[in-house]
Amino acid sequence: MTEKACRACHLIISEGNVCPNCHSTELSERWDSYVLIFDPEKSEVGKKLNAKVAGKYAVRIR
Ligand SMILES: [Zn+2]
Repeated sequence: MTEKACRACHLIISEGNVCPNCHSTELSERWDSYVLIFDPEKSEVGKKLNAKVAGKYAVRIR
C-alpha cells in the first residue's frame, strides 16, 4: 500500500485516488516528511496548509 500526498493541500491519502480534503486528483507518491494535524481549525500549520480534515500532511512534495 502506497501512501500518496495531495499536491494541492498536502494531505496524505492511504487509499483511493481522490483527496478527501479538497477533492483533487493530483496526487504524488514522492513526498518527504509529514506533520500530524489533529485539529485543523486550531493548528497554525493546519491553517497554513488550508487543512479541513484531521490527518497526516506532507511537508514537502517532490
Ligand atoms: Zn487535497
